[in-house]
Amino acid sequence: MATTETTSLPSHTPGTTHTLLKHSFGGADAARSAYLQAGTHADEHPGLLVLQHVIGQLQVLEQQGRILGHIVIVPFANPVGLGQQVFGQMVGRYNLANGENFNRNFPDITQRLIAELKHNPPAKNDLPAIKALFAKALTASAPNETVAANKYWLLKQALEHDILLDLHCDTSSILHIYANLNQRQRALDLAVATGVDAVFLEDEAGGLPLDECYAKAWKEVLKLDLVDTAHLGFSATLELRGQADVDDDIAAEDARGIIRFFQREGLVEAGADAVEAPCRSPVTVYPLEGVSHLLAPATGIVAWKKQIGDAVEVDEVIAQIVPVDGVLGAPRYAVLSNVSGRLIARHHVKLARSGQKIGMLAGTTPLPERQTGKLMGL
Ligand SMILES: [Zn+2]
Repeated sequence: MATTETTSLPSHTPGTTHTLLKHSFGGADAARSAYLQAGTHADEHPGLLVLQHVIGQLQVLEQQGRILGHIVIVPFANPVGLGQQVFGQMVGRYNLANGENFNRNFPDITQRLIAELKHNPPAKNDLPAIKALFAKALTASAPNETVAANKYWLLKQALEHDILLDLHCDTSSILHIYANLNQRQRALDLAVATGVDAVFLEDEAGGLPLDECYAKAWKEVLKLDLVDTAHLGFSATLELRGQADVDDDIAAEDARGIIRFFQREGLVEAGADAVEAPCRSPVTVYPLEGVSHLLAPATGIVAWKKQIGDAVEVDEVIAQIVPVDGVLGAPRYAVLSNVSGRLIARHHVKLARSGQKIGMLAGTTPLPERQTGKLMGL
């Protein structure tokens, strides 16, 4: 039977307690396991609803005896962020206490792990031994501050599993996935199962988000040839469209996509009721170095000329900036694409300041100014 555990974080302010929930399906001794969470950025809510559907679908599969692996779900990953409201508006991306992005600066265990792997190398593909070394390397950094302890706990959970799926969303966006170059095929499998047609692969994005800290640990094991790619841990960030795309029917379908991926990974038995993924356009893989952030060339109202998901060419007009403080008949400023690819996201900003990011383009060719390890914005 599925179980639920509650964990309390160190106190934030006198009289308050923040807790995290963890639902577990299938046996902890199963050969393969997966970990899912949503809401690290507490103002991104599509994933919170999708996980409730995943939980419901797993409960049915459990009754049918079809859960083959171990699946752990943390239905909300950031209780501190969920409580951050300023004058009725949620501020969930950054910690109001210090301005830090909630999905940056997770513990980096690589240095301690390298020492552990050197002194106590596990047998090749001995996953329990490898995960025990991850836990040992992480334990040395246990923090006391509430948000740091939250990140520590999330990474600790994730590193116990073969698969990490972190559910996020953009502001206004098409579905897309971020994953590591080491795991191209599994990223494509996830994309096909969930109906995603835009996948971003990177070696190292930088900034220490959760998925990167997980991937960095496995990369050290891979470098020493202590694991093959079939056993290598897989982490991906699934971007579930835009913040406003919270819809029960869409969430149910997204959850079915995640279950399809679990069937492919052998975590869930595929039954006669297995439904094929909806047929969408072929998956395109973009290097993270090919992402271009669209900047407003002037101050004014953003008038979009392209929809999210539209194909774009170099020098094509994506939007116009309409100045509202110019002379009579002042011209608009064109926002041009610097890549051939697609418009992935349009940010919420309607009145842009000169130089402000207003959207994200994906090109298939790396851009010279984009450097590995420095690919993540704030
Ligand atoms: Zn996010």
